[in-house]
Order: sequence, then C-alpha cells, then structure tokens
Amino acid sequence: MEDYCERVDPIVVAKASGSTLVDIDGRSYIDGNASWWTSTLGHNHPRLVAALRDQSEALCHTALAGMTHPAAAELAATLCGVAPRGLDHVFFSDNGSTSVEVAMKLCLQYWYQNGRPKRRKFVSLEGAFHGETLGVTALGGVDVFRQPFAESLLPCFHIPSPGDPAAAEQALDALGVCVSRNADEIAGVVLEPVVQGAAGMRIYDPAFLRAAREVCDRYDVFLVFDEVFTGYGRTGPMWAADHAGVAPDITCTAKGFSGGMLPMAATLVSDRIYRGFLGGPERAFYYGHTFCGNPLGAAVALEVLRVFEEEQILDRAVPKASRIANAFSELSALPGVGGARSIGMVAALDLEGDEGYLANAGWRVYDEARKRGAYLRPLGNVVYITPSLNIPDADLDRLLEVLKSSVAAVAGG
Ligand SMILES: *Cc1c(COP(=O)(O)O)cnc(C)c1O
Repeated sequence: MEDYCERVDPIVVAKASGSTLVDIDGRSYIDGNASWWTSTLGHNHPRLVAALRDQSEALCHTALAGMTHPAAAELAATLCGVAPRGLDHVFFSDNGSTSVEVAMKLCLQYWYQNGRPKRRKFVSLEGAFHGETLGVTALGGVDVFRQPFAESLLPCFHIPSPGDPAAAEQALDALGVCVSRNADEIAGVVLEPVVQGAAGMRIYDPAFLRAAREVCDRYDVFLVFDEVFTGYGRTGPMWAADHAGVAPDITCTAKGFSGGMLPMAATLVSDRIYRGFLGGPERAFYYGHTFCGNPLGAAVALEVLRVFEEEQILDRAVPKASRIANAFSELSALPGVGGARSIGMVAALDLEGDEGYLANAGWRVYDEARKRGAYLRPLGNVVYITPSLNIPDADLDRLLEVLKSSVAAVAGG
C-alpha cells in the first residue's frame, strides 16, 4: 500500500468512447483491458447511453419484491432466449461475485430441503477466481486472494487445473475421483469454463467441460459455470459452454452482461432447481440485495442483448479474433516471451522470469504501453488483452503494435 501511494501515478480518466480512454490532460489510451473485461461493446455505446437516459427519466429504482418493472421482465425473457439450453429461470443481482454467491446458496439450499442436507461442499479448480465475497472466496484458488481468509472459508475441494496442458488428464481424473468419493457431501462443481481469467488467462480444452458434465450427471451433483468473464462472446460464441456443447445447471453472468456500464448480474438456473424451491414459505429463496434487478441496470442489459443481435457483434468479432491470434503467435517468438495463447477476444503471453500475481515484469510492459498510448493491465508476468468485441480494426492494429513494441522493450532489454 505504501509503495502504491508513493509510486503509482494512476491514469485519471476523464472520458471514454469506443475503445479509447481519455485522461484529464487530454492524452488518449486504447483500452486493451475493456476496463476489467467488461466493456464488450466499447465505452459509452450510444445505444446503451440512450437506454440509460430513457430509463432514468422513467424509473430509476424500485424494489423487486411484490413488484416488478418492464425492463427486468423483458430482460429475463430475452436472456433466457439466448441462454444455454434448459436454463429458463433468472435471478438478478448486482455484481459478478454475488451472481456466484447466489449460485452457491441455491445449491446448498436446494439439497438442504430436497433430501440431501449433507451436501455442503463445493469443488473448484486450482487457480480459480469467482469473486470477492467470503462465500466465493472459498472457491478461489489464487493464493493472494484466498490465503488471509483460508481459515474462515466454507469447505471446498480444489482439483488441479486443466489449464496446464501437462496436467489436463490428471485434472480430469482428479475431478472423477473427488466427486465419486465425496458425492454425498458435494453440493456443486463450480468452473470458469474454458478460460481461467484471474489465474493468468489459462485456456483449457472444452472436452474437460463435457467430462465434468458426465461426472456431475452420474453422481447427480450440480454443475455451475461462472461465465462472468467468458460469457457474452468473450471467447467467441455467446457462452464459453458452447465450445463444449454442454449446458450447466446454473450459469452466472455479469461484466459484459451490462456492457460494462452498470453493476448488474444474473444467475440462470434450470427448471429442476427452480422447482426445488416451491412449496411452503420456508422453502423460498430469501435473498435480496437492495438493488437486485435495478431498472437502470436492467434497461442497459436488455439493450446490450439487442445490440449484440442487431449489430451482429459475435460474427463481426471473428476476423478480429483471427488478427489477435496471428499477432500473439508472432509475439510468442520474441525473446523473453515464454509462450502465448488466445481464444476469441482474449489473448495472453507469459513473460519469462518470476511467476504469479505479484510478479512485476507485466507492470514494466504496462509502463511502456502507457507511454505509447495503451492501457494494458497485467496479471503478474502475464500480459493480456481483452478488448471490446467491436474494437475498430485500426484501434486493434494500433493496440497490437503497442503491445509488441512494449513487450520487446521490456523482454528484449
Ligand atoms: C470478475 C469476475 C467475478 C467477480 O465479478 P465482480 O463483478 O467483480 O464481483 C467472478 N467470476 C469471474 C470469473 C470473474 O472474472
């Protein structure tokens, strides 16, 4: 913290539009990180701004308790139309951590009142990141985020990550063994499908998701996909689950869900889970943050889905993703670069040297990129880009050039 206060000179962002951030001195930066992976449609997309303005003039807030409002109702219906198959009920909340917290509580309460009350534990991956609340911190597998709280967390089995290609087979075996041995105690398996973001953009084979689906089916354990980062086309298709052609029992979405404009999230569940809460009043799911399903967030999230469809965001990102893949495969040959990978609109490279979230080589690339007019926030020694899905080609080319020269400046010398 002291170091941060003494040394860090934050970019003071005054405004933004599309893929560009502008600071209070008028300098502009291409946002290589889409402001923490959220701004899938670019900053201040005119249609999202208009939706926000219109909604704010009509209704800024109302409780979703004995009341509803058109934006929430229409959003739920539209979202179910594009959701993984079988997920046709929606619970709104207001950030990604909470969307996963809700998933955990739904699993626990479901088993509690449907004949399997001993099912109190979860399974997640080493290197997992599912957010910041104490509940989801239990699932987390990144040491700096977990260690100070380790003694105070819900019990969770962490299995090896399939993101390490050498360990992919082992991860599969570990999942099978863990679930088969502990099925009586396991409420759910929670995964970031295909890409483990905070672990350093670790990409793994979607076949793992199919295998996880089979294991969960065999032992009747819920499978939860945290698509807070991977959803909304970040990895190519609408959901990372689509790479595997499987549907989970619960999907969590946030970040790109509101186009990065407002805190807004959703947890989508199967009809079976929904039905597990019917009956007497004590069986209901009592969970309601004050701003769950707030009208401003709902109106923007609804407009996001319309823009995705009408502007063909997923299709038009395909050639951009190829450009990124080509650029990163060239970058992997630079001296000092240990390896590179990409999928859809996510790409990452590892700088050789110290590893882990606290490594600082990535920050030297950040400094170089900043001088050259791009914002590239690293994860330790992992330098990555997660630009807007609709980043203009000229901005993307510029971003890739800045990345290349910044990595060369740090790694080469
Ligand atoms: C960002 C993230 C979260 C947490 O979302 P917040 O909105 O920051 O609470 C959860 N899961 C994944 C996979 C994420 O990337």
